Amino acid sequence: MKIICIGRNYADHAKEMKSELPTEPIFFMKPDTALVKEGSDIYLPEFSNEIHFECEVVIKINKAGKFIQKEFARNYYSEITLGLDLTARDLQTKCKEKGLPWEIAKAFDNSAPISSKWISISDINLSDINFQFFQNGELKQNGFTKDMIFSIDELISYVSTFITLKTGDLIYTGTPAGVGPIQIGDKLEGNLNGNKLFEFTVK
Ligand code: MG
Repeated sequence: MKIICIGRNYADHAKEMKSELPTEPIFFMKPDTALVKEGSDIYLPEFSNEIHFECEVVIKINKAGKFIQKEFARNYYSEITLGLDLTARDLQTKCKEKGLPWEIAKAFDNSAPISSKWISISDINLSDINFQFFQNGELKQNGFTKDMIFSIDELISYVSTFITLKTGDLIYTGTPAGVGPIQIGDKLEGNLNGNKLFEFTVK
């Protein structure tokens, strides 16, 4: 399986990163070695002094597809959850300055923690989800999917133009404003529509 992550999909986050708003979706990928399932801890890597949390709604692809039209994208996923797109912000800043790819800042081991609880899309209104991220009990990110620049269906259509999507692939759909650094000892918690979906400890 592969992990596809969308960048700058919320205007308030693009603004806090001093990035321009995209006119087409921006995506990058993480390998399966990035995944951290619930029950495991998050280990901070030694090559960065600035690992940031980015809490995101995650889509699980349930059928292989290429050139998926937006109108039919809903047939390619049935469950969503929350995850973290952990980012070595110090390395990413250097990559951006030099115009280099972001992999060392985004695709490292343990950079994609994910909840083990999946929510059926038939149980929720996808365009009206509230998701929240708490660091040591303090609310840091309060996102609303209605603020996405590109909808989930638009993202699936766009990505599948370039890359065949397969069963089990994950799409991290971008983060709202409020990102910041994590430290050893932190308790990280994500809620979706008021229900706790994940809790991780940073080691
Ligand atoms: Mg992200």
